[in-house]
Amino acid sequence: MNATLRTAAAVIAASVLGMVSMPSQAQAPQPLPLIKEGATVKVSEHVWVIPDGGVPVVPDVGIIVGSRATMIIDTGLGIRNGEAVLRELAKVSTNKDVYVATTHFHAEHTTGGVAFPPNFKFVRPIAQQKDVQEFGSSFFAMFEKRSPEFAELMKGSTYPSADIMFERDYSVDLGGVRVQLTWLGPTHTRGDTAIFVEGDRVLFSGDLAMKQLFPAFASPYSDGVVWLASLDTLAAMQPKVVVGSHGGIGDASLISSYRDILKTVQARTRELKAQGKSEEEIGKLLTDEMAAKYPDWVAPIRIPGAVTAFYKLP
Ligand SMILES: [Zn+2]
Repeated sequence: MNATLRTAAAVIAASVLGMVSMPSQAQAPQPLPLIKEGATVKVSEHVWVIPDGGVPVVPDVGIIVGSRATMIIDTGLGIRNGEAVLRELAKVSTNKDVYVATTHFHAEHTTGGVAFPPNFKFVRPIAQQKDVQEFGSSFFAMFEKRSPEFAELMKGSTYPSADIMFERDYSVDLGGVRVQLTWLGPTHTRGDTAIFVEGDRVLFSGDLAMKQLFPAFASPYSDGVVWLASLDTLAAMQPKVVVGSHGGIGDASLISSYRDILKTVQARTRELKAQGKSEEEIGKLLTDEMAAKYPDWVAPIRIPGAVTAFYKLP
């Protein structure tokens, strides 16, 4: 992909990602994306979550603690957030052996890792590494440009390099608890990865299934059909607890809600396209329809991106 396309891709993504505010805050400046300390919750025998607190561009961070090793899932944006994660980590784990998994390459899920000690091991699928290489710098610049405060928060950070890379699956025993990483194909991004804590049946679903937050097709590689198939893969894991990468903690209904939404957008797009409506018209119509159908959900602005993904199908 050339530089112009890369920039265009970043602009598209910007319009559906961090720039999303609660409808009532549309004109208000967004709060700085700082991970809230002292709010970490235990969700199962081995798993803790630092919830995003409803703040855009803050991820839900996971900490999985075994008898031998620990895994962090997503890092927060920049060094200051990474340091906050380390302080929360120290409250629940003293393991020296620490893995870091990232649900996808976007800066608030990865760049806090620069604050981590050099012995921490970053694990990611090859597809996520490709996203870092192709889109990393344009995304970084886009985040920096948002405000001087954002730029300050990102100062000195970058994408940590991978210590372990895998194609589709990677499994690690943390001591009494096994974690399965699964690359799901191009969905929200090209490199989205689900992390399933087997015995505890806790699933970190990334941006693939989130609580009351519409799906963001944020990459030129985003694929609606792959996304639907990935939701089947996640449902088959039969999780008890599902933690999206934003939007807080839920259960398997997060997966079924996403399936309902994507199936509806797929079917309505096909129907309206057959009636001769343009992609843009369908995007507007379905944004209104979905906002009315899901009044408590955030970011219906993302619906046209889903329409684009399905409109190009025969
Ligand atoms: Zn993202």
